[in-house]
Amino acid sequence: MNCPRCGRPLVQRRVSVCMCDTSPAIKIEGVPALVCENCGERVYKADAMERIEDIRDSMGAPDRVESMLVYRFELPIPPVGQPLINLATAGTSVLRYTALTS
Ligand SMILES: [Zn+2]
Repeated sequence: MNCPRCGRPLVQRRVSVCMCDTSPAIKIEGVPALVCENCGERVYKADAMERIEDIRDSMGAPDRVESMLVYRFELPIPPVGQPLINLATAGTSVLRYTALTS
């Protein structure tokens, strides 16, 4: 399978999925994903997405607890039209979820 964004081949990896919109924020380690080494796009299969959603919805006892550093973004919002930065490649926790049925 090729990257839905840039068309390059995807490779199988285990990744960490961070969700900051939950309270508390959660990180799930070792999630299988197809990853684009060119643009950082991640593609998750449907069963992996279901497991992620199960963990998020149940929030059972975690394997461990980490603290998190929180910063406020102080810079002004850039004007429309500037090039987009791929946050996944920059190593942040901003992810795009794409479910596959195959
Ligand atoms: Zn790509």
